[in-house]
Amino acid sequence: MRYGMAIDTKKCVGCSDCVVACQTENNVPVGYARDWIVERIDGVYPNLELEIRTERCNHCDNTPCVRTCPTGASHLIEGGIVKVTHEECIGCGACIESCPYDARYFHPDGWVDKCTFCDHRVHNGQDPACVSVCPTKCMYFGDLDDPNSEVSKQVASRKWKVLAPEAGTSPQIFYMS
Ligand code: SF4
Ligand code: SF4
Ligand code: SF4
Repeated sequence: MRYGMAIDTKKCVGCSDCVVACQTENNVPVGYARDWIVERIDGVYPNLELEIRTERCNHCDNTPCVRTCPTGASHLIEGGIVKVTHEECIGCGACIESCPYDARYFHPDGWVDKCTFCDHRVHNGQDPACVSVCPTKCMYFGDLDDPNSEVSKQVASRKWKVLAPEAGTSPQIFYMS
C-alpha cells in the first residue's frame, strides 16, 4: 500500500473549493491552510501557457521533515502518509526548515500542522475532503502499488511531473499535463 495523488493541471480551474473543504474538514484555523493554489505562466510571449495547480504536502518517500524532527512527532504511518503528533511537537520548526515545499505551518496553538491525506477519511473508505469536493474532478487519490487503482492508471497513461525533483525527496503527488 502506497498512497499517492495524481492531479490534472488541465482540469484545475483554481476555484479554491479544495482549500475551503480542507479548512472545514480539518479545523484549520482562519488565515492558515494545508493546501493552496498556484498559478504559473510558462513560456515566452506570445507562446505563454498558464498552469493552475492545487498543492499540499507531497507525502514524500524520502522525508527530511521526519529525519530532522528531534522528538519523533513527525512520523510515517501505513501507506506512506506523513503525519505530526501534535502532543509530541515542541514547535522547534526543524521540519518546516527542511521541507522544500513549504508544506507545513505553525499552528497558533503551538505545534506544526500540515496535510494528512485526510487519513481519518481514507481509513473509512472515503476520498480526502479536497478530492471529494473538486467540481472538475481533477484529483485522483489511491494506492500507487495497485496497478488497477485510478491514480495508478492516470500516472501510467499520462505525462506528469513532480515538484522540485532536484530536492531528492521522491514526492508522491504527480502533476499531469
Ligand atoms: Fe515532508 Fe515537506 Fe515532503 Fe511533506 S512535502 S513529506 S512536509 S518534506
Ligand atoms: Fe518535530 Fe514539531 Fe520540531 Fe517539527 S516543530 S521538527 S514536528 S518537534
Ligand atoms: Fe487537506 Fe485532506 Fe486534502 Fe490534505 S488531503 S489537503 S488534509 S483535505
